[in-house]
Amino acid sequence: MHEFSIAQALVEQIEAAATKEHAKRVVRVVITVGALSGVDPEALRSLFPLVAEDTVTADAELVVEPVSARVRCRACGREEAAETSFLRCSVCGSRDVELIAGRELHIKTVELEIDER
Ligand SMILES: [Zn+2]
Repeated sequence: MHEFSIAQALVEQIEAAATKEHAKRVVRVVITVGALSGVDPEALRSLFPLVAEDTVTADAELVVEPVSARVRCRACGREEAAETSFLRCSVCGSRDVELIAGRELHIKTVELEIDER
């Protein structure tokens, strides 16, 4: 399953960050998911706790911030929201458009609880 491997990759990255900071546990994780990333945020949210089980990320709250797709027209320079993966400039009709947002899947913030000594 697509989302399962993504959840695994996310947990691995979060674990690495938590280990580096000697965190006791991960409190909250915010990720940004592009509208055209092909990732189902709901599926990701439900799989995340399963993948994170028995790790310091187990109790973390996963917040998914959707990012809408945006394109920039190479012909007229117009930037606009893109509804679908069929990309065409609404101003000049050019198909020479560049996707500038919408395919990303990033970890934005990881809130850690650090063990104080
Ligand atoms: Zn244009």
